[in-house]
Amino acid sequence: MTSQRVFRIAAIPADGVGAEVVAAGRTVLDALAAASHGTFAFDWTEFPWGCDHYQRTGRMMDEDGLETLKDFDAIYFGAVGWPTVPDHVSLWGLRLKICQGFDQWANVRPVHFLPGVLSPLRKAADTELDWVVVRENSEGEYSGLGGRNLSARGPGSEVAVQSALFTETGCERIMRFAFDLARTRVRRKVSSVTKSNAQQYGMVLWDEVFTRVAADYPDVETESVLVDAMSAKFVLHPEDLSVVVASNLHADILSDLGSAMAGSLGLASSANLNPEKRFPSMFEPVHGSAPDIAGQGLANPIGAIGSAALMLGHLGLTDEAARLTKAIEATTGAGVLTPDVGGRATTTDVTAAVIDHLT
Ligand code: ATP
Ligand code: MG
Repeated sequence: MTSQRVFRIAAIPADGVGAEVVAAGRTVLDALAAASHGTFAFDWTEFPWGCDHYQRTGRMMDEDGLETLKDFDAIYFGAVGWPTVPDHVSLWGLRLKICQGFDQWANVRPVHFLPGVLSPLRKAADTELDWVVVRENSEGEYSGLGGRNLSARGPGSEVAVQSALFTETGCERIMRFAFDLARTRVRRKVSSVTKSNAQQYGMVLWDEVFTRVAADYPDVETESVLVDAMSAKFVLHPEDLSVVVASNLHADILSDLGSAMAGSLGLASSANLNPEKRFPSMFEPVHGSAPDIAGQGLANPIGAIGSAALMLGHLGLTDEAARLTKAIEATTGAGVLTPDVGGRATTTDVTAAVIDHLT
């Protein structure tokens, strides 16, 4: 008898559609485990953190939250934010606290054109394209450095400074991660994104480190593109992309663009990785809490289910990850689509269809 592998997963649905899409992903993962003939199972613990928790307790998560989470094998996250709580409070109080507390410095956001899904930029549903945005997730523009009221010049003349922090170590590790990822792909190419013509300190350091790291990967093709030009390139020549490495802010914006190109924000998956595996990594859809559609059963669960596939890969269940990705493609290919991508299916319909295609 072989022993069963049990993965301890912390589920944090948090706000809005987070609850609906995390429930969808859990159902799919449990169906996969049930079909594994006892090879593996998921042991879930759900945490009620988020904006409701904040209204009740004044905190987005428990004070000892990181301590509680640190022994889990992975974190499966929904979405954070609600109109009743300022965005910077909710984001820094939960999601960014976990990302930074667990040194999840690499944020991987695949852009994947799914069968059967059109978008304003994709007129033929059989165009097959995919690339990956690798986002520096620990520093850059989201370092929280700066301040307000730096000068007291009287009413109407407040000054605010928002600094971006770039360290050689931070740049180098995210670039090596991007190059290593490129080596696993059919197209071995890394595109680095900057704005070094206008920002002469951090972005120039980024460029210099990129050139240096690239020298260690002679088998990988490279290019360095300004972020404005890269936005145009996403739209005009996405077939020329494989791995795109960018700073925290630039990659955040570019990955939303990529997911909109693929058809909807609701389709996009992401992994916040602590590559050293000293701490748990966190898997979440790219989208936010979507207050406009929350609680109506309309949320597209594909982003969250795709994030579950990324989690499977991270846990070493590579075959299951591939199987789940195929089931997602079969579902959209069969036209089972939520309203954001032009269909009439509910969150539950899509989830059930994915499970059907697993077996
Ligand atoms: P955040 O600041 O957390 O990134 P946001 O303000 O950018 O959030 P979202 O909450 O992601 O915005 O919503 C942006 C738009 O995308 C909304 O119109 C929302 O309904 C839609 N959307 C987001 N997620 C989904 C989903 N899973 N299914 C369908 N539509 C979605
Ligand atoms: Mg957003």
